[in-house]
Amino acid sequence: MKTLQTEYDQPLASFNTLALPAVAKLFFDTSNEDQLVAALEHCSNIGEIPLILGGGSNIVLSGKPIPVCVRIASRGIRVLSKSADRVIVRVSAGVNWNDLVEHCLAAGYYGLENLALIPGSVGAAPVQNIGAYGVELNQFVERVHFRWIESGKAQNYSAAQCEFGYRDSVFKRQLNDKVVITAVDFSLRLHSEVNIEYAALRQELGDLLTPSPAQVRDAVVAIRRRKLPDPDSLPNAGSFFKNPVVSKKTMQRLCEHYSNVVYYPTSSSDEFKVAAGWLLDQAGWRGVQEDRVGVHREQALVLVNHNNAQGAELLDLAARIQSSILALFGIDLEIEPRIY
Ligand code: FAD
Ligand code: NAP
Repeated sequence: MKTLQTEYDQPLASFNTLALPAVAKLFFDTSNEDQLVAALEHCSNIGEIPLILGGGSNIVLSGKPIPVCVRIASRGIRVLSKSADRVIVRVSAGVNWNDLVEHCLAAGYYGLENLALIPGSVGAAPVQNIGAYGVELNQFVERVHFRWIESGKAQNYSAAQCEFGYRDSVFKRQLNDKVVITAVDFSLRLHSEVNIEYAALRQELGDLLTPSPAQVRDAVVAIRRRKLPDPDSLPNAGSFFKNPVVSKKTMQRLCEHYSNVVYYPTSSSDEFKVAAGWLLDQAGWRGVQEDRVGVHREQALVLVNHNNAQGAELLDLAARIQSSILALFGIDLEIEPRIY
């Protein structure tokens, strides 16, 4: 085993896409499972639950010191099996998500193209069951491998055991702070079959009625580059709030007051998903810039750090947005990234 890389009082601003400052008293950079086990053993010995860090694109650092941070930087993509129409691929948790999408496209493994350009790591992807442009991760997950933080023991779950939901999974709930995902097995298609149901994607593809997976990837990348700020130039964590799922009664009330409300059906006929971005637009938040933080001009769901802000400033803005949405629409907006 290569020596476990250990740092003390490690600044974390460059390890999160919101570029928020905080210090990890102890920081382990792990590039394989032996190192991860050693880091977890250390955490257990000192009685600390570590912050497990991937690409830092779905966290908000409040500024409080972080006792221990374990970064997952393991690499590796390998084919486990192939049948006539599917391939099973095992991917280490530290692989960059978009690198995986590109690797699969180049190898002729299809399905992930709608999820192109989502920042972050493979290991974090099952945590919130990443989704975009009509596709969700769980459609392609076969098995998730993890280690228990307390004992270091390895285990794996089938997709059903992961209890995937809308931006949700067992890893966000019962297993939160209990396990570290080490690898994910994906079942991908060997034939080209694309999903272009999402209206914005269809529109971007224009006359292209039977696009290839690579053309779908190109269209997704083009929309995202136009609409979403690149964290390297304008720090952000993507959508700051989840789209609220409301009851039929609440939906009827909203429709009576606002004929243009943007909403979508869900798998339950009694529940509807309201576009949180629309709520923020109506409340006048889009493009608002305060001292060092603000709401993105192209997409109100994205809160941005304009100039070396502290986490507390961003969380204060988020709290005021939540209060205004509650007062105007009677809807509680839930913050999507995890706050530390
Ligand atoms: P981190 O931010 O490092 O961690 C997020 C959470 O997962 C933390 O609680 C962390 O402890 C936990 N975690 C990380 N790795 C592991 C592991 N190996 N085991 C256990 N727990 C772990 N999300 C979408 O769903 N769809 C999108 O389209 C999308 N677009 C985005 C666009 C932008 C510009 C940005 C900045 C973010 C976007 N996101 C999107 C959010 C984010 O990219 C995803 O949630 C991503 O999966 C987070 O990966 P990460 O490695 O950066 O996770
Ligand atoms: P958009 O296309 O402007 O649409 C606004 C919202 O409407 C989206 O959140 C989307 O929900 C929903 N929606 C649109 N068409 C839908 C349909 N046919 N059926 C069900 N729901 C529909 O959204 P956007 O902000 O530009 O984002 C585009 C995609 O990238 C979305 O899928 C979004 O989730 C994803 N994205 C996610 C993040 C993140 O951090 N979580 C950041 C950027 C982009 P869904 O969110 O459920 O798809």
